[in-house]
Amino acid sequence: MSSKKKKSVKPPAEEKPNELRVQKIKAGTVIDHITAGNSLAVLQILGITGREGDVISIAMNVHSKRLGKKDIIKVESREITADEINRIALVAPKATINIIRNYKIHTKMRIEVPDEIIGIVRCENPSCITNNERGIKSHFSVVDRSPVTLRCTYCKRISSQDYLVEQLQGSP
Ligand SMILES: [Zn+2]
Repeated sequence: MSSKKKKSVKPPAEEKPNELRVQKIKAGTVIDHITAGNSLAVLQILGITGREGDVISIAMNVHSKRLGKKDIIKVESREITADEINRIALVAPKATINIIRNYKIHTKMRIEVPDEIIGIVRCENPSCITNNERGIKSHFSVVDRSPVTLRCTYCKRISSQDYLVEQLQGSP
């Protein structure tokens, strides 16, 4: 029965047990529901090496009701961009992005794999026109979203998610 109306900033109650193994952050980005085992690829895509000085927490192969297993990444003091989200979609199509400000979820986004992927990755076929003619961007239609599978619009070659992960890890 206290009438005191003091506004204090404290972290909100802990989320569902077993959902988040790592601590809440004050500000930054939480990438949840990453395809299990692909969090390192996501870090590569974001250009995060660990040498930037930001606090990064990674949980791998955590139990998930929705996915069975998942990875989680928390990047403190950095909000990821829409362009980065598009790239992450290729290796973590079910990921959710939470932008955190002052311990609270400021924006929540679910990744959506678009119908077409233009640029971003190369075609797996070395003799594809997109790998040989300057100025022709790679162009894929998405034939499966989980795992992401792409078909080249030019040569029809299928690129698997494993190939995309490898490629994106190699060229952040
Ligand atoms: Zn091609």
